[in-house]
Amino acid sequence: MRCRKCGKKAVVSLRAYRISLCGDCYVDFYRKLVERSIKKYRILGKDERILLAVSGGKDSSAMVSVLKELGFDFEILHIDLGIGEYSKDSRRKVENLSEMLSVNLNIVELEDYGFTIPQVRGRVCSACGTAKRYIMNRFARERGFDVVATGHTAEDLASFYLKNIAGGQQVFAEKLIPRIEPFDAKVVAKARPLFEISERENMLYALIKGLPFKSGECPYAPRPEWKEIVYDIELKKPGFTRNFVRGLVGKAENPLETRYCSICGEISSGEVCSFCKIRMKFTRSSKGF
Ligand SMILES: [Zn+2]
Ligand SMILES: [Zn+2]
Repeated sequence: MRCRKCGKKAVVSLRAYRISLCGDCYVDFYRKLVERSIKKYRILGKDERILLAVSGGKDSSAMVSVLKELGFDFEILHIDLGIGEYSKDSRRKVENLSEMLSVNLNIVELEDYGFTIPQVRGRVCSACGTAKRYIMNRFARERGFDVVATGHTAEDLASFYLKNIAGGQQVFAEKLIPRIEPFDAKVVAKARPLFEISERENMLYALIKGLPFKSGECPYAPRPEWKEIVYDIELKKPGFTRNFVRGLVGKAENPLETRYCSICGEISSGEVCSFCKIRMKFTRSSKGF
């Protein structure tokens, strides 16, 4: 198999685009995909102060590298969740990445807020998501960033949507659109520059570029059944995932009106925000309150 662009030996075959490419041409192709997406949906601006939330996985590592290639100016934030070796290894990968690409790295330890993820009982993944969103937003606002970007992929959005719809739940715009503007002074804009890029496309880019990234799921993550359904459909109908998330952009509705948490003052849907509820439940001391 030959590269469609230059005729060299192809190393990558993309069914959704019906194209085979060599390593160098794939990196160009991927960068152009992300660039087109950012322009079309106005996901990030060159004049903005951008913070990239980076877990150490392939998707966020790819995001950091491609945005650097595209000439964006940004800093990165890693949240250390305190999940034993998993968190230690993730943090090392992010440190290596920031050195390799010479980008400014900020690290926040969840422990500074009084608890770590292993102390949470019950709905661990949901508590983890709440903690990450809370810290990202607060850190970005307090340090004067205009926007926080995360490495969410097309599979993340499509599986989230399908799962909620199948469960009879309403899905709000902020979970589905590539960019959400602040609807309140306490909220920083959120961006998903990889929202129509697939995990495999990120993985190929990260491997070809030799980026450090942590493989393997979090030890608390349940089996990603809805993602497996999305993979299955993609296998039978190449291009499904990308087209599906593009279709979702138009379906997005406006978020609900917000209130403020009586404990920490951040935005909240009730009297006390969900992050403070988790903190109160799992923090033994009053450290950080
Ligand atoms: Zn080529
Ligand atoms: Zn709160």
